[in-house]
Amino acid sequence: MSLIGHLVTASAMAWCYLDLNDIGVLDAGASLSQAFLDANDGVFYSHHAIALVALGIVLGARGPDRLEIPTFNWYRRTRQSLIPHRTLTHWPPFWVFLTWLAWTGSEHSLDYVSAAWSSTFLGFCAGSWLHLAMDIMTPMGIPLLLPFGKRTSLNIYKTATLGEGACVAVFLAVLVFFAKTS
Ligand SMILES: [Zn+2]
Repeated sequence: MSLIGHLVTASAMAWCYLDLNDIGVLDAGASLSQAFLDANDGVFYSHHAIALVALGIVLGARGPDRLEIPTFNWYRRTRQSLIPHRTLTHWPPFWVFLTWLAWTGSEHSLDYVSAAWSSTFLGFCAGSWLHLAMDIMTPMGIPLLLPFGKRTSLNIYKTATLGEGACVAVFLAVLVFFAKTS
């Protein structure tokens, strides 16, 4: 999926999550700044956690791609990365482990800073799961069994085509329907 596609779907997911928690986007923005201002009094409110999870979801839009540590080779005009593209960071068991870490961290946070970090990290994992779901639908697919092994693809759309636009539109429609009927 293209950069725009990942950003739009993750932003929509963050909006849906906020809506299910009866928090508007503007209120979430206010909660975020308040979360940092309130850090000194040490009380971590649930609306801080919700706003930080939503922020994490947007940050995770390209999480699996970013964790590959990409660079751009100006000479060859191609993208390169330290970890080969769509291998370890696009392997579901890797995210099962990171999600477990984030969940455990949020359950056992000892102070404000660790609670804030683990909430954001949990959202980041959710955004990254969405990224994997979007990537498995492209012809290149993602590895399911071994991180550097054969990739599996559902072959539903090709990146940066009308098919991708249609897939994003369907996803947005489902989210809006889900948010408005819940
Ligand atoms: Zn990817």
